[in-house]
Amino acid sequence: MKQESPSGPVRRALRNTCPNCGKGALFTSWLRMAPVCSSCQFDLSELDAGDGPASFLVLIYGAIVVPLAFLLEALFSPPLWVQAVLWGLIMLLATMKSLRPLKAIMIGWQFRIHDPDKKYF
Ligand SMILES: [Zn+2]
Repeated sequence: MKQESPSGPVRRALRNTCPNCGKGALFTSWLRMAPVCSSCQFDLSELDAGDGPASFLVLIYGAIVVPLAFLLEALFSPPLWVQAVLWGLIMLLATMKSLRPLKAIMIGWQFRIHDPDKKYF
């Protein structure tokens, strides 16, 4: 029997499916997780990423955007409202695009640690 790779739950979660079976939906809306898998009845409420995805995104995008804002200021000195609108929109769009996938990744990681059968370790 072929053993599944440790990244299996993460890949299934990234496809918006249950990290356990890969069939039921993981999210019922943009960021709201289903309480129970509709396919295998796995209790998804035990998995909670909390504020982790948002915290990581603040650190990652902050490390990228702040130096770029300083660079833009040093090179062109645009009005302050241009900086605020530009970087605010970039941060908003980047966060909207990546918050759900990052939450899915963290749920997949959590599932691997939480797995009662310990078949991924
Ligand atoms: Zn399932």
